[in-house]
Amino acid sequence: MSRRILITGASIAGTTTAWWLIQHGFEVDVVEHAPSFRDGGQNVDVRGNAREVLRRMGLEELAFDHSTHERGTDWVAEDDSVVARFEAADSDTDHGPTAELEIRRGDIARIIFEAVREKATFRFGDSIADVVQTGNGVNVTFACGRDDFYDVVVVAEGVGSHTRELLFPGENESRWMDLTIAYFSIPSLPGDSAYARQFNTIDGRGATVKPSRDGKLGVYMGIQKKPEGENDWSVERQRSYIQKQFANDGWEFPRILAAMQNVNDFYFDVLRQVHMDRWSNGRVVLTGDAAWSPTPLSGIGTSLAMVGGYVLAGELAKTEDVATALAEYERAMRPFVKQGQNVSKLVVRMLWPHSTVGITLLRGALRLASTPIVRKVINNGFARDSNAIDLPDYGTKVLKLEIKA
Ligand SMILES: Cc1cc2nc3c(=O)[nH]c(=O)nc-3n(C[C@H](O)[C@H](O)[C@H](O)COP(=O)(O)OP(=O)(O)OC[C@H]3O[C@@H](n4cnc5c(N)ncnc54)[C@H](O)[C@@H]3O)c2cc1C
Repeated sequence: MSRRILITGASIAGTTTAWWLIQHGFEVDVVEHAPSFRDGGQNVDVRGNAREVLRRMGLEELAFDHSTHERGTDWVAEDDSVVARFEAADSDTDHGPTAELEIRRGDIARIIFEAVREKATFRFGDSIADVVQTGNGVNVTFACGRDDFYDVVVVAEGVGSHTRELLFPGENESRWMDLTIAYFSIPSLPGDSAYARQFNTIDGRGATVKPSRDGKLGVYMGIQKKPEGENDWSVERQRSYIQKQFANDGWEFPRILAAMQNVNDFYFDVLRQVHMDRWSNGRVVLTGDAAWSPTPLSGIGTSLAMVGGYVLAGELAKTEDVATALAEYERAMRPFVKQGQNVSKLVVRMLWPHSTVGITLLRGALRLASTPIVRKVINNGFARDSNAIDLPDYGTKVLKLEIKA
């Protein structure tokens, strides 16, 4: 059995894969280019089978202890009155805009990291500089100058993965979603709602304010537009761009922009999906956003990353033949990922209108949607299907993944 594995990227996908590889008896190194573990991020959803992965790790209860307890999502008008409300409790499939387990990205990532940090070797502030594959392994040179040899390298570096571009040059066909989002947290006030509040203004701009924890509110400020290289800007330029975009708006924007000046968890993303025809090249394999980013619009990116880590580790444990394991991992995950990436750009445009007429139409549609029966249908169809595969039990007997109709 191949036993020494390097994972690059210590976020959700990397730490979940590490946890399961350790469970199956592998020796695991994790290299992360950030100088220390990255705690930031706003609410992410852990849905369906990802909850089952957490359960099998014995971490589900701890994750629920860190839930943001968001009660649902309100679309609101300028005076903050509710245009339409989607109660989390109305969704009986956990597919609504608010998932049953809503948790800050940093909290869920930290929970998994703490569960594996003593068992794997983590190296922060370093990254892969070069990779040479031999017939029976991978020679890795790190940026710090050190060399090492591994049986398999797992790339879990997120959507902008550098190692993916090194090993799979030109193979990623990015699908830009024409939406730019800045995420950060601001201090909450006593009257803040227990519901997420989504407000739209003209020119494709809007924001969501989400109940968080520790006296904070999670803020998402979005602009529906074609990408213009904003990903490559410095954080300061990104921050002042957002400041200028919303400087003359009402609603909660003055409070949000004033608080934004002092935040230390500003995270900016020009949303794009990753589309790769293959996820492995020899003994180097992609997972999580680096392989298939569906974008936060799917509501299922974190869940896919967790299920992907579980399946990848399980398949590697099943056979000594790395090629077979990686092929099986891809066969199992492809249909699930395809469903997760099925996000319409038309819906993005409809949810982020440019004109006052568009906003009026959106609010009218949302009002209609807030009738109980329609609301249930919309709630149930909001996120991609997070139960689209049955999880094999790699610990005991291996079951085949079945794609549900
Ligand atoms: C700080 C942070 C905040 C986030 N906030 C949100 C949010 O608010 N809402 C949301 O929906 N999603 C957020 N995300 C993205 C979300 O975590 C992912 O979409 C999803 O969970 C899939 O996780 P992933 O592990 O595949 O990728 P990611 O979570 O993007 O993690 C990739 C990891 O790889 C590391 N890395 C990148 N390049 C290299 C390299 N060359 N060498 C070594 N390591 C590298 C990164 O530092 C990061 O730790 C955030 C991600 C990060 C890192």
